[in-house]
Amino acid sequence: MSALNAESTAFRSALDAVRAVEPRIADAIAKELTDQRESLKLIASENYASPAVLLAMGNWLSDKYAEGTIGRRFYAGCQNVDTVESVAVEHAKALFNAPYAYVQPHSGIDANLVAYWAILADRVEAPALAKVQKRNVNDMTDAEWAELRAAFGNQRMLGMSLDAGGHLTHGFRPNISGKMFDQRSYGVDPATGQIDYAALRTSAQEFKPLVIVGGYSAYPRKVNFRIMREIADEVGATFMVDMAHFAGLVAGKVFTGDFDPIANAHIVTTTTHKSLRGPRGGAVFCQPELSDQVDRGCPMVLGGPLAHVMAAKAVAFAEARRPEFADYAQRIVDNSQALAAGLTSRGATVVSGGTDNHLVLIDVDKYGLTGRQAEQALLDSGIVTNRNSIPQDPNGAWYTSGIRIGTPALTTRGLGTGEMDQIAELMHTVLTSTKAGASKAKFDLATAVSDRVSKQATELLADFPLYPSVDLG
Ligand code: PLP
Repeated sequence: MSALNAESTAFRSALDAVRAVEPRIADAIAKELTDQRESLKLIASENYASPAVLLAMGNWLSDKYAEGTIGRRFYAGCQNVDTVESVAVEHAKALFNAPYAYVQPHSGIDANLVAYWAILADRVEAPALAKVQKRNVNDMTDAEWAELRAAFGNQRMLGMSLDAGGHLTHGFRPNISGKMFDQRSYGVDPATGQIDYAALRTSAQEFKPLVIVGGYSAYPRKVNFRIMREIADEVGATFMVDMAHFAGLVAGKVFTGDFDPIANAHIVTTTTHKSLRGPRGGAVFCQPELSDQVDRGCPMVLGGPLAHVMAAKAVAFAEARRPEFADYAQRIVDNSQALAAGLTSRGATVVSGGTDNHLVLIDVDKYGLTGRQAEQALLDSGIVTNRNSIPQDPNGAWYTSGIRIGTPALTTRGLGTGEMDQIAELMHTVLTSTKAGASKAKFDLATAVSDRVSKQATELLADFPLYPSVDLG
């Protein structure tokens, strides 16, 4: 059976089985494929996982409980889960050249929680236990335990500000990390839109954080993790990097040396589904001295590992170890730079003046629009993006003044720099044709324009079929 037939057959059969129980779910799954095929996906955090990755998830590994770690489970009969997790770890370590990998986190948020608790256990719990000469927390008296719980509170974290591109899990109040840590932010230099390392150093020296977090969701530049590690060492902080967004660029060796988080940080977290192109999930990489604490992720903050997702992670890591993934990673950046150049040459204001990674931030105030208006006008024209705060954003996190666009997904489809210029033209047409309305959410865009751009977007995509091996009939 050819690959085309095998994959079509697999997905068709799966949908038939689902349809027999709940047809609305089968229809929604099939419709999602149609929608994704037809839209110009520029969401920086999304991608298209391979059929092999998707198929690795839809099976009975999902039925198994396997709390614990490889070879040390709290349930019987985990031999196959042990194989799955071992293979995923083997590929993850080789892919990132990491001394230790933990592939159980169910998502990026979970990976960050595992890392935060590992740091707290290493820096707060372990010294407290040594002080009272106990081996574990269960042996502490109530008074000692109360003292330890008090010590956990109010530890300090230095992370990137939200409007500069940081993530909610880097110590912000709507997330539990903001309740666990007293957070101070570092931002970007307003003149360059890039991280001001001298200001970061001064802030770290004043604040004396337990943990410094590098990494971002919406910062379009390379980050010098060597300098950040130096700063962390100077102030005695643990240096953590959340590479959720750019893990694919690390895996594909676009970010090396000073820009490689694994080589520079004590502990690194990631998602597996963004530029890395795997299943939805997370992972943690660390120096060996933190590995015991990281392994306690389950049950500290995680439930039983998702064996079916770990299987898909193993497949994705194996794919990313192939030479063509390095080519893919470089094309992501080439495309994002071509998109930034195409927008800039048409008059757009691109935050920080360009990009070194997979994403571009456009300041839509130039067009008299809020991010919310621009996002919807683009969506109505078949271009899927998301609104995002920009540094010193006057419109806050809900309406925003920015649009974030990213190239991992369209690069997977095979679009190149020529197509990026055409997309810049389509976006330019929509943004210059949209007029702000009576509220920060309302706008006017002639249907003739949105229909024409939608049609052009669909035509552009016609040469780049999504999941060409999958025919649902
Ligand atoms: N960390 C960063 C930097 C992110 O951008 C995100 C998601 O957008 C996450 C963590 C959370 O990932 P998840 O949605 O898998 O929990």
